[in-house]
Amino acid sequence: LLPLALFLAGLFAGLAIWLSRRRLSPRGELALAVRNREFLAHYQPIIELATGRCIGAEALVRWRRPDGSLVRPDLFIPLAEETGFIGPITDHVVERVVDDLGDLLRRDRRLHIAINLGAADISSGRILPVLEAALADTGIEPQQIWLEATERGFVDIEGARHTLAALRRRGHMTAIDDFGTGYSGLKYLQRLPVDALKIDKSFIDAVGTEAPTSHVTEHIIAMARELKLRIVAEGVETEAQAAYLRQRGVGFAQGWLFSRALPPEEFAAFCTRNRKT
Ligand code: C2E
Ligand code: CA
Ligand code: CA
Ligand code: CA
Repeated sequence: LLPLALFLAGLFAGLAIWLSRRRLSPRGELALAVRNREFLAHYQPIIELATGRCIGAEALVRWRRPDGSLVRPDLFIPLAEETGFIGPITDHVVERVVDDLGDLLRRDRRLHIAINLGAADISSGRILPVLEAALADTGIEPQQIWLEATERGFVDIEGARHTLAALRRRGHMTAIDDFGTGYSGLKYLQRLPVDALKIDKSFIDAVGTEAPTSHVTEHIIAMARELKLRIVAEGVETEAQAAYLRQRGVGFAQGWLFSRALPPEEFAAFCTRNRKT
């Protein structure tokens, strides 16, 4: 009788958890995920186009739900931005980078990891103390951590200027993410203290096609060169796209042509393989 009682108790407990989760709104589910720290990072290698070497990665957050499924950021980052949960998620990603890749970063000082910031992280400057605390006593150099900010974070342009300038003073590199997809363009570029510009995948997709945006990449490259910014092209899927970028002197690229985003150990292995040249 006892085994049966235990079995039933377990069944009811499981059912209760399942029901309570099921009743949650998306916002409630996200709140619970933040509380339970259900986030991890995968790392997409960034390649130096001239040499093919791996020079680092972008950290891309994933939400691992209790059932083991991985949720892609497109499905929860917008909600996190709206509900104010983006801050704790950014913090979590920063911690994951330190834990996942600390050894690798200490072994090779030339490697860097780029972390995406939410709009609130930038406008409020809250990311500054978070990074300082997370990196203290880890042996990771500030220049090994790059921060990516999208134009959503530049609505409060003075706040953004202040945060980006402070990040740079500490030795971090700053990059504008998804460049060209917003309404800003050159106006922001000139006013913001940034080191690099990431060309959005949508423009790379259009390279060599008849799409109306097929020449945007050309203009972005010219603009970046004028302002002496480094360029990272994202979403590179074909050798033709890579050749196009290489020909125009674009320094860095990431995309499925080189590698998808990888779990930490696989990224470390990829990177080690790709540096021995
Ligand atoms: P993003 O920053 O523009 O990141 C690039 C996205 O393109 C990633 O999707 C990446 O997996 C995908 N991608 C890279 N190369 C290729 C390719 O060759 N082909 C195709 N089809 N896709 C490629 P992911 O990981 O789903 O991230 C989506 C977006 O979510 C990111 O866009 C970024 O805006 C946001 N995000 C990701 N991680 C974080 C994070 O830690 N914090 C914040 N605030 N946002 C994040
Ligand atoms: Ca990230
Ligand atoms: Ca990014
Ligand atoms: Ca993008």
